[in-house]
Amino acid sequence: MNIIDEIPSSKTLEINALASKLKSGGKDVINLTAGEPDFPTPDVIKQKAHEALDINFTRYTDSKGIVQLRETISKIMIQKGFSFSKDEIIVTNGGKQALFNAVLSTVDKDEEVILISPYWVSYPPMVMLAGANIKVLNTTFEEGFVPNIEKLKALISDKTKAIIINSPNNPTGVIYPEEILKRIAEITNENKIFVLADDVYDSLVYDGKYTSIANFVDPEYLIYINAFSKSHAMTGWRVGYIATKNKKIYKRIAKIQAHTTSSVNSIAQYAASFALEADTSYMFEEFKKRRDFTIEMAQKIGLEFVKPNGAFYLFFKSPMENDEEFCKKLLEEKLVALVPGSAFMAPGFVRMSFANSLEAINEAFNRIKEFLG
Ligand code: PLP
Repeated sequence: MNIIDEIPSSKTLEINALASKLKSGGKDVINLTAGEPDFPTPDVIKQKAHEALDINFTRYTDSKGIVQLRETISKIMIQKGFSFSKDEIIVTNGGKQALFNAVLSTVDKDEEVILISPYWVSYPPMVMLAGANIKVLNTTFEEGFVPNIEKLKALISDKTKAIIINSPNNPTGVIYPEEILKRIAEITNENKIFVLADDVYDSLVYDGKYTSIANFVDPEYLIYINAFSKSHAMTGWRVGYIATKNKKIYKRIAKIQAHTTSSVNSIAQYAASFALEADTSYMFEEFKKRRDFTIEMAQKIGLEFVKPNGAFYLFFKSPMENDEEFCKKLLEEKLVALVPGSAFMAPGFVRMSFANSLEAINEAFNRIKEFLG
């Protein structure tokens, strides 16, 4: 059997397919499944894409990414308090490919990768494709979806090679406290475990203190991942990146890029290299308003959740025991599409994206209230 046959199909896509089917049949579906900003890409970036075409910047590029973009990324990282030169950065097709490359180049067959549940749907397939095994560090509602250090210690074996840390988190919107990140890093540093820091939501922090685990990890074991997708409303452009000081891993990732993609789209790279000229504060302000409104509405109808301090998701306890059934029925009967927590290894919960207009969010809550009777 081919390894791909062992990988489950995406539950997020299943519910999306049902929502699209209903929508194309003329139904007024409110789709709150999306993991992407609903804003257009900032004008300056779009104009630079036109410019790229005008100057015929349309050939293969350096497979590690054009120098201009890697320099921009280096400057972005300096703003975040990290020092990575352009030669420690590789441009990838979105954060997703950055993570895939990071997993593939750090773990070998039969080694173990720790995933903290609830987790993003694509992590397990990445680990499986690398031939490695998944060890799940479960976090609970009662723990505020924050990893417990004792549970982490109990999972570590001589086969543990990497852990993925995603804070702000998809699907919970939770930001891991600095103290916990420090403790995790102490353990990974001591055990020489790679930390794949998935910081794709770090531009969406509404309250509380945000610190990246990247601050505490031994640089030789840090693989930092980010993308322009969420921060600059550029999901379709597919521009992400990896930063690492580990030369061996860097070379491996560069090799994967060269052999699998040749390079990221030249026009998208050129445009993204002007990202620092784009003001994205209006998007942040709007997301904050929506987050506050979502919390208020969810409280009003009695949903139970851990307050999301980051990203654009509300993760609440499923009002029906079976979250998949709840999402299916809510979609069929009230035309509101949400993602069951089972998709994120968290049955009994439901993810609502608030990357949609206040009107749509309001209407969705009205319908959920009606549904709950
Ligand atoms: N990591 C997490 C936790 C995500 O939710 C996503 C996208 O939804 C990504 C990485 C990848 O983002 P992209 O490939 O769109 O840049």
